[in-house]
Amino acid sequence: MFNAKYLQQCFLIVLFTLLGISNIASANNITSNVNYDIQVEIDPATRSIQGRSTITVKNSGELRLLLGQRFEVTKALIEGQPLQPSADSYDMPYHSWRIPFSLGVTYNIEVHWHGELAALNTSLDHQQTLGRPEPVSDVMGTFLPKSSSWYPHIIGALASYQVNLKLPAGQRGLVAGKLIEESESAQEGYQASFEFALPAEGIELMAGPYQIATSHIQGANGQQIQLRTYFHPQIGHLADDYLDAVKAYFKLYEAWIGDYPFTEFSIVSSPTPTGFGMPTLTYLGINVLKLPFIRATSLGHEVLHNWWGNGVYPDYQKGNWSEGLTTFMADYTYKEQESAAAAREMRLGWLRDFAALSPGQDAPLNAFTSRTHGASKIVGYNKTAMLFLMLRDQLGEDIFNRSIQALWNIQRFKVTSWDDLQNIFAIVSTQDLDLFFEQWLTRNGAPLINLSAVDKTKTDSDFQLTVTLQQALPTYQLSVPIVIHSANGEQTKLLNLQQQQQTFTFNLQDEPLKVALDPNLRLFRQLAPDEAPPILREVMVNQTTTTLLLSENKETLQIAETLASKLQRRNPSIITSSKTPTTEPTLVIGLQAQIDAWLSANNLPEKPEIISNKGSAQAWTIRQTNGTTLAIISAQDNDALEALIRPLPHYGRQSYIMFESSQAIKRGVWPMQEQVMMVE
Ligand SMILES: [Zn+2]
Repeated sequence: MFNAKYLQQCFLIVLFTLLGISNIASANNITSNVNYDIQVEIDPATRSIQGRSTITVKNSGELRLLLGQRFEVTKALIEGQPLQPSADSYDMPYHSWRIPFSLGVTYNIEVHWHGELAALNTSLDHQQTLGRPEPVSDVMGTFLPKSSSWYPHIIGALASYQVNLKLPAGQRGLVAGKLIEESESAQEGYQASFEFALPAEGIELMAGPYQIATSHIQGANGQQIQLRTYFHPQIGHLADDYLDAVKAYFKLYEAWIGDYPFTEFSIVSSPTPTGFGMPTLTYLGINVLKLPFIRATSLGHEVLHNWWGNGVYPDYQKGNWSEGLTTFMADYTYKEQESAAAAREMRLGWLRDFAALSPGQDAPLNAFTSRTHGASKIVGYNKTAMLFLMLRDQLGEDIFNRSIQALWNIQRFKVTSWDDLQNIFAIVSTQDLDLFFEQWLTRNGAPLINLSAVDKTKTDSDFQLTVTLQQALPTYQLSVPIVIHSANGEQTKLLNLQQQQQTFTFNLQDEPLKVALDPNLRLFRQLAPDEAPPILREVMVNQTTTTLLLSENKETLQIAETLASKLQRRNPSIITSSKTPTTEPTLVIGLQAQIDAWLSANNLPEKPEIISNKGSAQAWTIRQTNGTTLAIISAQDNDALEALIRPLPHYGRQSYIMFESSQAIKRGVWPMQEQVMMVE
């Protein structure tokens, strides 16, 4: 739906965007009502922090100021008078103050605090780091996330800031923003001042024994963008490669979306295996940065978050659109640049993963509210990315790109909901997109579409083809691609499917031979059971999986049981009799001779050729006639079986895999079975 305020606001900017005039930037004069001016000194060796902040608030309602309870407050003043802690303090571990409402008055608040930061635990993975919003410090690395309340902040307010950071000699650090000045000496240590003049969601501070490397590029509007790496010494040699790689992403996204809104970008290494994107920087684990493919994938994704996520802020409570749009314009776009086949492979991976979800793991997109990379990627990232692909297919690339540019011009540094985004696409395209967004944002699941009948009749001059499509309830409105094959080639038709069953008729010059339903996977849909290639994950996540152990040997049985429970992350439901496969998903584990005999006794195909001649163990999937998955694990001996326990659970996305001891030496996914009907 359109709303009047929005129409007015959008009109000029959309007009300019349509005329191809970018960067008219209603956003250039954005100011915020809250500003923090912070002096902070940190000693990672003793994990001590001392801070002073002057907070300026142009007040439009009663506000609340919070600081983490682990710190001691030595001074809290408002307009020079003591600011009393609020009595009705939260249950949460905060110092809390109320800032009274007073129209038209600017308050100056001063808070001094100090305390001890938490110890760094490098054994935490990304997920665990997200779950612990603690300010941590160590000579190997200091990370003060905004969620740790390491500085006094007004809740719910976007704020500009200045931070002056002081560290002992040998340490260097930063916060997001423009580097104003920097100095270093053996006596004075390291000092740097940063400014973030736009309304930011919060301040995150990083420090470590960094080596700094610098380069720059000329931004699209002529401004210089300073590029830096803050790397631990052990990866210092990677700096030049990263600085080079990052330049290409700025060219791509400035041309595609609009000017980069900042004057710097830094790549910062972390002692824990995290991956965060913040305005003007990305914070990636040392071991992540060492991986050669990161420059071609995650780096571009993090750069793009300066536009989506850290430039235009999602309205998290109403659904996070930014991860999906970033996945579409980064990860997926790099696959499109590689080849059409690589892009199709990525779409197939998304649909296959979605098909392998167990009940309860799915949720509508407007309920995906995670702010970070950890949460359900399959829905929050991939389904959203596919939504943008379908939207581009529907609107055309030109209108899609103009809408993207309008989104940037209108919404930068503003909290932006799915509704705001829809309005911009609707205005630029002059299409009513209510139904499109409603069906993709508010429903669980995905449409299930079948090719139910095809028929042809010969007329005097040509052939008439009828195609009947069916879809499950609730019905979606879809533009369904079908490919019609003839002796002279193939052609794609888009069928406007709205009902549960619909028949479409075409006149064709060439005799139609067969019809395929969406073979290029342009729609986010539930793959039919025989359409999706079976993958190992199906017997790992599906709670109804039966595990069949084919051995009489006690030691083999024990290893097999451990393997099954590691794969399924629960107590497996085990049978040991060698009866024929059930109708449930089944995992079969055994040594080679027993497996071969069992396959033969049940008239199942023998071990696939692609993994048959080498390796000490193999695992592969077979699609049973009722659509469920059979997964087979075959090892040459107990040692080979035991060697699978650690690595195999990581390979759920594969259809087949071969190991030499614990090393995966060959793996892959069976080809997809397209939904095809011959025209009789
Ligand atoms: Zn992301």
